[in-house]
Amino acid sequence: MLAVLGCALQLAAATPPLVVRSGDRVVEVVTTAHPAGGLAVHGAQLAAALGGRLARTEDGRLRFEVAGTPLVALPGGHFVATPSDTFPLPAPPVDLAGQTWVPRALVADILPRAVTGVLYDEARGELRRFAPVALGRRGAPAAASVPTVAAATVAASTGTASARPAPAAATTPGARRRTVVVDAGHGGPDAGMTGPIGGARKVREKDITLAVSLALRAALEERGVAVVMTRTRDTLIALADRGRIANRAKADLFVSVHVNAANPNWRQPGTARGFETYFLAEAKTEDERRVEAMENEAIRFEAAVDSRRDDPLGFIIRDMAQNEHLRESARLAESIQGGLRDVHPGPDRGVKQAGFRVLVSAFMPAVLVELGFGTNADEVAWMTDPRSQRALAARLADAIVSYLAEYERRIGAGP
Ligand SMILES: [Zn+2]
Repeated sequence: MLAVLGCALQLAAATPPLVVRSGDRVVEVVTTAHPAGGLAVHGAQLAAALGGRLARTEDGRLRFEVAGTPLVALPGGHFVATPSDTFPLPAPPVDLAGQTWVPRALVADILPRAVTGVLYDEARGELRRFAPVALGRRGAPAAASVPTVAAATVAASTGTASARPAPAAATTPGARRRTVVVDAGHGGPDAGMTGPIGGARKVREKDITLAVSLALRAALEERGVAVVMTRTRDTLIALADRGRIANRAKADLFVSVHVNAANPNWRQPGTARGFETYFLAEAKTEDERRVEAMENEAIRFEAAVDSRRDDPLGFIIRDMAQNEHLRESARLAESIQGGLRDVHPGPDRGVKQAGFRVLVSAFMPAVLVELGFGTNADEVAWMTDPRSQRALAARLADAIVSYLAEYERRIGAGP
């Protein structure tokens, strides 16, 4: 036993530890040289540092669970599977000196893609975990994870909140009046996307976003929330300035409203439908990168380009203050996505994450909503109908108010 322990320590001493940061807690996890080359990380220590678990399944496979996401090594150890994805492992997990070690790729490549709220900072060689956020699996309805939000949304929208939990934050006695920035995407020479595919009558994203944003302002003000608009007419506001407007207003939340466009290379792009809500983080999937690239395109309409445009996301991810907002942004996105689920005819495409420039410059919880696909004729008809726009705005406002109420409760109950 002593000999084994000595051996493990010897192995460990030769390689630098992996730093795992989880909120204010910083833990150093022992590493060793992987027999197949590269580094291996102490599995149980890594799991513990992330607040997760390392165990064996009944048939002896390695099971690593973080934030409710199980990752199971497949036989042979060359792949690791989550309930929704399978990732290749360049080197298998190994048992050395009675301990289980996982390849560094699991830390640097796979965990950040498989688990929401986990990021790997390559420059610092540091793994970051944000406090747990109850997110549904990507693309799947997440109703079960947000029962309080759903209840509050119903209560707020029916006006029968008396016996319900979660009174609206803005009307809670003693609560500060909250300010929300509503950002109508695009404007002026930047029309955003145009559609639908094959439609005779073309609509422009900038017109839909403005109409819905103005309706959202009215709905929020009815609910006692102060609103600052980035634009109220057809004009171009630089992406970075949209965030600055929000910072100057000392707003509590930033909500950017957009319309999605199908990738023309999809098999039947005109049929793509549905709504999705983004918060700021690194895009993890090809689809998230598509929307990120599309919304960041607006920067080419801006004469004066922000001089800090080199890797603004990396800058933000290293900033701990913004990390706090990232967690709140994820909660807000979940609330909004849940609210739209009740009113939207299209499928729920889930809460997603991407590096939107418009969100980078806002130092507060910030989300970007894709109301629907402007490339789809049915969704265009729905999004341009003033009745749907009012219904959309009401649900967005309910979701925002219930998020604020939940936030007040959490900070009220917290230390
Ligand atoms: Zn847009």
